[in-house]
Amino acid sequence: MKTDQDSRAQQVHIETFGCQMNQYDSELVRSLLKARGFTLTEDKEQADVILMNTCAIREHAHNRVYGHLAELKAIKRQRNLVVGVLGCMAQNLKTELIETEPIVDILVGPDSYRRLPDLISKALESQGQDNTQPGIAVDLSEYETYGDIMPERAEGVNAWIAVMRGCDNFCTFCVVPYTRGRERSRDPEGILHEAKLLLQQGYKQITLLGQNVNSYRFDDWDFARLITAVGDLAGIERVRFTSPHPKDFPPTLLDAVASHPKVCKHIHLPLQCGNDRILKLMNRTYSVKEYLALVDAIRQRRADIALTTDLICGFCTETEEEFLDTYRTVQDVGYHSAFVFKYSERKHTIAARKHPDNVPERVKADRVTRLVDLQKSISLQKNRELVGSTLPVLVEGDARKSSMQWMGRTDSTLTVVWEKRASPTRPGDLIPVHITRVSATTLFGEETTPR
Ligand code: SF4
Repeated sequence: MKTDQDSRAQQVHIETFGCQMNQYDSELVRSLLKARGFTLTEDKEQADVILMNTCAIREHAHNRVYGHLAELKAIKRQRNLVVGVLGCMAQNLKTELIETEPIVDILVGPDSYRRLPDLISKALESQGQDNTQPGIAVDLSEYETYGDIMPERAEGVNAWIAVMRGCDNFCTFCVVPYTRGRERSRDPEGILHEAKLLLQQGYKQITLLGQNVNSYRFDDWDFARLITAVGDLAGIERVRFTSPHPKDFPPTLLDAVASHPKVCKHIHLPLQCGNDRILKLMNRTYSVKEYLALVDAIRQRRADIALTTDLICGFCTETEEEFLDTYRTVQDVGYHSAFVFKYSERKHTIAARKHPDNVPERVKADRVTRLVDLQKSISLQKNRELVGSTLPVLVEGDARKSSMQWMGRTDSTLTVVWEKRASPTRPGDLIPVHITRVSATTLFGEETTPR
């Protein structure tokens, strides 16, 4: 039997699937495990414990987790290994996952990460014993914000801070209210303290995170006040936020985005669909007219605020004509970019219980292709308008395709790539880049002025 001391020396590998909130939660988990003496490893082969921080929002992420579990099954036959499933899939499927995947030793939902170190120790101690029970912690909390934990972040230019967790909106297609529970916001004092520490550590950009980030509320603090206070901190270059809901954009927030020099001129404004009947079925709580009025209000304040969006194709009973309403709305708004998804029914959602998933897969796929093609042409057109301009770019690091090039982002979140040259440019610098050519997804340029 392993002693507690042995367990503390064990190596833990974490794989993260899904959204930025999950990336952030993995940083929280790293911090909790390190504080209890566990070692973290990037090398799966060396790991005694493999944790998968999962996403339940789309079928694709779901299937990837099942694929990885199949791989781990083979490894587990050869050596001792503790397998843990964390996050939204653990919360949504609970014991069903343990029943279908007996190799899973630990199941921990997003509000129960504080229990994870104990569950890992217990699983390590009981390895090889007969009839061991899996460790399960899937209670949802009305209060847990992990506000007292400093996440173990990777080095870089951007740091995420989760300012609220959970969601009360119950969009009928979405599993988040069931996997992450009710909305709760962190104390602004703690958020500002954490942001100051991050700036002292050299981060240049803070991204405020939440499932419904702009519904942040703590006493008399709302999201507009919070983002302004973060933007006012000494040493910060940029503040971003994701993911907001269109229903929570009071004029004070629009003013903060439009006028605060450190708040990025970018709003991710999930439309999901451009037809009122479908929006109602989705319980999105706005009409197309109200959404477009919000777009107008944003652009009246500043025409250069970049808008991006999420779109779902083939939601329950969506007709071709209703899909074309979405198509036309995308044309009307002119987003900088869009994430386009096929509707995939998620267990335990309202849509799964009440609405038939009756649009054929090939129709969904065809609608996705048409919207993606449309968005590509809009993005390309918008990017072409930037050729010849010089934009402030925050340098993030080497370009994905070549270490001879830098990659950075504009204020409006566009990716920029340019050749390195003999200059003192470093990640974290905010520098002017002259745009010389573009694709639908990337701007290419050159550093202009000696600094
Ligand atoms: S706002 Fe809707 S889509 Fe977003 S997390 Fe909440 S329920 Fe899901």
